[in-house]
Amino acid sequence: MSKKILIVEDESIIRMDMKMMLEDHGYEVVGEAGDGDQAIELAFQEKPDLVLMDIKMPRMNGLKASQVIASQLDIPILIITAYSQKEFVEQARQDNIVGYLVKPISESNLIPAVEIAMHQANKAKKLKLEIKTAQHEVEKRKLIERAKGILMDKKMLTEQEAFKKMRDASMARQMTMESIAKEILYENK
Ligand SMILES: [Mg+2]
Repeated sequence: MSKKILIVEDESIIRMDMKMMLEDHGYEVVGEAGDGDQAIELAFQEKPDLVLMDIKMPRMNGLKASQVIASQLDIPILIITAYSQKEFVEQARQDNIVGYLVKPISESNLIPAVEIAMHQANKAKKLKLEIKTAQHEVEKRKLIERAKGILMDKKMLTEQEAFKKMRDASMARQMTMESIAKEILYENK
């Protein structure tokens, strides 16, 4: 279960409050940053499951830091904002920003927002994995088709014969069809 959180907020009292609320609910605060530079450094170092990101901070602001983090790491970011910044956040919409939380932060707005963000992030992660698996499946089939085509040409086999030959080899040598196909493609480069 994803539970590691990085808190980025320049006001130390708000930071401490949030840390306490999160820890009370079983979250692990793996880092605290007071500006955008520190946020980036800690995001890379700690690889949290979620970043809570204030916007207005000294040196680098939260949106800029979010952009840098999102360009390199696949970590969801929950923006913490004063109401007046809401429009600004909407303009700066980007993939990794999973939501925003309006100050003042209280347990009753922080915890549900974090839970939803974590849930969505997990769902997105699962979906990405499914897409990757599906893409691999397509690639695998393409390889097998190409290898089968080569066998048909070179050995004058029918499609079924070529497929059977590959399947027999796969079983006899305890190799996947994909590996057999790769071997055939390699040998006929
Ligand atoms: Mg601030």
